[in-house]
Amino acid sequence: MQKTARTVVIHETGGPEVLKIEDRPLGDPGPGEVRIRHHACGLNFIDVYQRTGLYPMELPHALGMEAAGVIEAVGEGVTHLKPGQRAAYAAVPAGAYCEARVMPASQVCPLPGGISFETAAAMMLKGLTVEYLFHRTTPLKRGDTVLFHAAAGGVGLIACQWAKSEGIKLIGTAGTDDKCRLAQFNGATHCINYRTEDFASRVAEITGGKGVDAVMDSVGADTFEGSLDCLKPLGMMISFGNASGPVPPFNIGILGQKGSLKITRPTLFTHIADHSVCQAMARRLFGKVAGAEVKIHIDQRFELDQVAEAHRALEARQTTGSTILVP
Ligand code: NDP
Repeated sequence: MQKTARTVVIHETGGPEVLKIEDRPLGDPGPGEVRIRHHACGLNFIDVYQRTGLYPMELPHALGMEAAGVIEAVGEGVTHLKPGQRAAYAAVPAGAYCEARVMPASQVCPLPGGISFETAAAMMLKGLTVEYLFHRTTPLKRGDTVLFHAAAGGVGLIACQWAKSEGIKLIGTAGTDDKCRLAQFNGATHCINYRTEDFASRVAEITGGKGVDAVMDSVGADTFEGSLDCLKPLGMMISFGNASGPVPPFNIGILGQKGSLKITRPTLFTHIADHSVCQAMARRLFGKVAGAEVKIHIDQRFELDQVAEAHRALEARQTTGSTILVP
């Protein structure tokens, strides 16, 4: 067995230049753990937040939260996976940008034969996020309307297709006209270029002044206030990311003035902390992909060595859909 694995590690927070490739020891799994050899690893915006220090972690730390590959060994007490099995995950702790690793088994899911490693690595974290946004955050039913920011991104393109498959109208936003076309091609009923148009006024026009039932906002600082203006009375603001910077402190009284709005700030890792919930969420995601209701777009591929280049592209808003690293 190979005794080390090439792994992306940060020793300090900062720009993409702090991403270093190191050989890290690779041992046998302990109780509740598996050793998995990766065929592909996913890139996510959360990796940028961890690299820059917005989401603090103890250093040095390996990076990456999503990958797919083959189980090499299982520790005591692991019953849902066996050596030789194909598997994929979105999981804590970070450390997925690597050739192979030993990690807790709870959030690792058996991967159905019809889904490739690359597709799985491109969708686990993003697709499970869409699952909880549409099914576990606020009640949404056929005919409801949501506003979804950054609709042409990794999470975004999955959300556009997922909404359509559930009969939910999704109004997207994106930073270029080409990205808007891509979101609409994937099921968004409308898409607003929020760099050239005032998205709140456009949402008012599109909904005939009624507003939307929920806003799913991962852009944060730049869109937060405008997003509140897009909601119907009693609507739900789901703030789930900060690509443009964290949401500044705000006066909770504003929620009352704007129509008894509700607000939540969820994270995927609360949802997948429970093993059986995590596995059930993954089964629903696999079902959507296997049933061709959701197609995973891998629009960028990089070698593990090119990880800094991959981060630069994601932060510069140059990517669409999902990005993977091939170890
Ligand atoms: P994306 O592929 O969506 O990339 C981020 C996109 O955000 C960019 O492409 C860009 O799209 C948009 N954006 C707007 N303003 C900025 C800015 N100032 N700098 C950079 N990008 C900006 O990333 P992911 O699919 O990985 O993640 C999408 C979001 O969802 C992230 O914010 C992420 O943190 C969040 N997330 C939250 C989770 C949770 O559970 N809370 C779980 C998973 C993801 P455009 O050019 O169209 O504006």
